[in-house]
Amino acid sequence: MTKAIRIHTPGGPEVLRWEDVPTPEPGPGEALVRHAAVGLNFIDVYFRTGLYKTALPAILGMEASGTVTALGQGVTEVAVGDRVAYATAPIGAYATERVIAADRLVKLPDNINFNTAAAMMLQGITAQYLLRRTHRVQSGETIVVHAAAGGVGLILCQWAKYLGATVIGVVSTPEKAEMARTCGADHVVVGHTDLVAEVKRITGGAMVPVVYDSVGKDTFMASIDSLAPLGLMVSYGNASGPVGAVDVGMLGAKGSLFLTRPGLATYTAKRADLQHAAQELFDVVGKGVVSIRVNQTFPLQDAAKAQEALEARRTTGSTILLP
Ligand code: NDP
Repeated sequence: MTKAIRIHTPGGPEVLRWEDVPTPEPGPGEALVRHAAVGLNFIDVYFRTGLYKTALPAILGMEASGTVTALGQGVTEVAVGDRVAYATAPIGAYATERVIAADRLVKLPDNINFNTAAAMMLQGITAQYLLRRTHRVQSGETIVVHAAAGGVGLILCQWAKYLGATVIGVVSTPEKAEMARTCGADHVVVGHTDLVAEVKRITGGAMVPVVYDSVGKDTFMASIDSLAPLGLMVSYGNASGPVGAVDVGMLGAKGSLFLTRPGLATYTAKRADLQHAAQELFDVVGKGVVSIRVNQTFPLQDAAKAQEALEARRTTGSTILLP
């Protein structure tokens, strides 16, 4: 048997149950991975509450690191004994071991340990595609990063800084502001009510070419109003609730703006893209340009406590769950 955190119904953290489930067997193209560490992500909360739908009962989680222990037929990407990590659908990572499509696994270089890998694969590959593909951040640009002391946020700040950008981070507390500054944010706005005025002041009225907004409902309009003409609104998360319907005409009136709602699954659908993104992440982490801050660690069976902390905005940086 395998131990896993399952939900049988959507709800609060109390619906997470630590249960025995049958150990899965890998089918064709699949690998069995014994997990060393599991990553905690805000998307796990969306699946638990029912904002994102899944068949039930379900094992939550989209990210982990570990060792390949068995292979189905026809697997060429990995071998038994390989150290690997992944950040992908379908959910099922909150378990001591799981079966997963082998073409979703990335082999870990020797200099990346299991805890760092589980902490960074999902948030770090997200940062990679946001900064390098959704909008290719250029040296000299000023950008806005919401939830700048969060998991994705701290990686975005460090990486954008390395690319030569000036980073305006948005956070909710002075402590988080300090952390964002330590990780490269040049300016930090505490609370989003002053965001537009602060962006105007910092940029001398020019405003910014791109805003990375993971907060959603509460910050959408402030983000839009922080953009320069032809600017790009990157709405990539819903921590405060979904944005809902958008008035397309408003994008024209506010300066021929662009709006995208990107997702990791699209950007890593091709294995070549997944491997390229992971390699860029390994490079910046290996060089020490981006340091992965694992600021919270919980036993996997206490996933409910970890999710409570994440939802209550008590976490900073990344969080891992240990089986
Ligand atoms: P974080 O560590 O960033 O935690 C969420 C943060 O959002 C909080 O710490 C808090 O920071 C901020 N926040 C603002 N309003 C609220 C609210 N009402 N409730 C809770 N938090 C709030 O999480 P992750 O790094 O795991 O994810 C960041 C975001 O990126 C999430 O929205 C996630 O869904 C999204 N994401 C999207 C991906 C994609 O491909 N589209 C992939 C990965 C993540 P503060 O207190 O400073 O405001």
